[in-house]
Amino acid sequence: MLMGLLTGACGQKQPLPATLNEAQVRAKLEAIPMNEKVNLSDEEWRKILTPEQFSVMRERGTEPAFSNKCFNIHQSGTFVCAACGNPLFDSETKFESGTGWPSFNAALAGDRVKVVTDTSHGMVREEVTCARCGSHLGHVFKDGPPPTGLRYCMNAVALKLVSLEKATFAAGCFWGVQAEFDATKGVLKTTAGYTGGHVKNPTYEQVCAHNTGHAEAVEVEFDPAVVSYQQLLDLFWTIHDPRQKNRQGPDVGDNYRSAIFTHSPEQKAAAEASRDQQNAQGKGPIATEIVSAGEFYPAEAYHQHYKSPSCVIHR
Ligand SMILES: [Zn+2]
Repeated sequence: MLMGLLTGACGQKQPLPATLNEAQVRAKLEAIPMNEKVNLSDEEWRKILTPEQFSVMRERGTEPAFSNKCFNIHQSGTFVCAACGNPLFDSETKFESGTGWPSFNAALAGDRVKVVTDTSHGMVREEVTCARCGSHLGHVFKDGPPPTGLRYCMNAVALKLVSLEKATFAAGCFWGVQAEFDATKGVLKTTAGYTGGHVKNPTYEQVCAHNTGHAEAVEVEFDPAVVSYQQLLDLFWTIHDPRQKNRQGPDVGDNYRSAIFTHSPEQKAAAEASRDQQNAQGKGPIATEIVSAGEFYPAEAYHQHYKSPSCVIHR
């Protein structure tokens, strides 16, 4: 009997893993939270990258200088990895190097790029790769302009410029709030910090002493082509209790107040309409403050991305 079962089990054919098509690879990539690493096979990368992108990004190639008109792009926004969407450079750090490749004097904070020594082609250079997906981006040289003296010489084909919008929310302790927005598709960057008060450059201790007027808040930078402000508002209502005034659960004080800091008249109108809808649906009375965004002070480094994505309850 046992033999029969074993034979039967061994006799079953295991289905071979199916090769993913382009849409499936894109879906697989998009399902990975932005703060997690991406590991796709070469075969999978080939499905979603152009041959030129594959050659540069996965085979460490270099595009000919001046070959990609994007080297000369001057719109403001954030340059993201063309393979995985990881934010890499702010347009404010881009400068004219005359080399025919897009050049930046700094990468975005948060170890978004990785620099390793490259000894290929008889030269010693510092290679720059995307820290999230490992794609080759270019090299960094020490002949750039102040204040860093660095020149990140990138392949234009490895970058994509996106115009991000800002949104700022306060919903109690910023650790959990930041983790929720970090896990949201289309949110490319979040910063935990303090805003809405009257003290410049406050410390965590000052804010917790309740005399700065600041709320613990999270500044969210998002790609409106992927996630709308309305969707962020919808999330905001669900991640805390907006009926509580100056507290969230065991955290008591005006620094834990529920607030939406709006960055435009459109955001203000959308936030107020969304609040009114919550009230109309019997989810109120909503105590959330809706005010114009003022100066935002990033919190100390140890508060940033405090909660790992595994703590997040995925929706
Ligand atoms: Zn990448």
